[in-house]
Amino acid sequence: MQYINKEGRTEIDRRFGEQVKEESGAEIDRCYQCLTCSLGCPSAFAMDYLPHQIVRMVQLGLRQEVLTSSTIWVCADCQACASRCPNEVDLVGMMDFLRETSLREGLAKERAVADFHRIFLGNIERWGRQHELSLIIKLKLKTRDLFSDVPSGIKMLKKGKLKLLPERFKEIKNVRDIFRRAEK
Ligand code: SF4
Ligand code: SF4
Repeated sequence: MQYINKEGRTEIDRRFGEQVKEESGAEIDRCYQCLTCSLGCPSAFAMDYLPHQIVRMVQLGLRQEVLTSSTIWVCADCQACASRCPNEVDLVGMMDFLRETSLREGLAKERAVADFHRIFLGNIERWGRQHELSLIIKLKLKTRDLFSDVPSGIKMLKKGKLKLLPERFKEIKNVRDIFRRAEK
């Protein structure tokens, strides 16, 4: 596991573990590194650090390594880890908090995934539900990859799989209230 930064120094943020616990609610102190989370993780093959390693790195205060890891963006929020953890460590809440912190501090390594995350949530906040066509268009403009999926996009439009206009959820006020509370 890489604990050394680019300048060859190990950086420790002693408050990091406490901050993650307080703000995500994940009781990372309970983790005894049994590996159950990592062994059942369907995205593990694409991660630079496995889920149990991220927990350990958070405990150790390796803030920079955690917030620049690909793991937090490759995580699919499937809940397999949290539901199997013998100590009920909320890894999903932890990953969510790490992603938001990484975004806020401009440290996100997987730019396209980070852009997808931001646009996806932006649409939900705006309409209360997802509008796939605008999600795709915004992501294409953001990543400047304009033409790679045009043929499949046209097919989906023809089959009615993509709606031209977004529909607003009736209880949009409640959805926006959730976002406001989450921001606080
Ligand atoms: S399953 Fe739970 S206790 Fe085991 S390594 Fe993962 S977080 Fe730690
Ligand atoms: S929630 Fe993320 S870390 Fe946990 S098992 Fe699913 S993909 Fe892996």
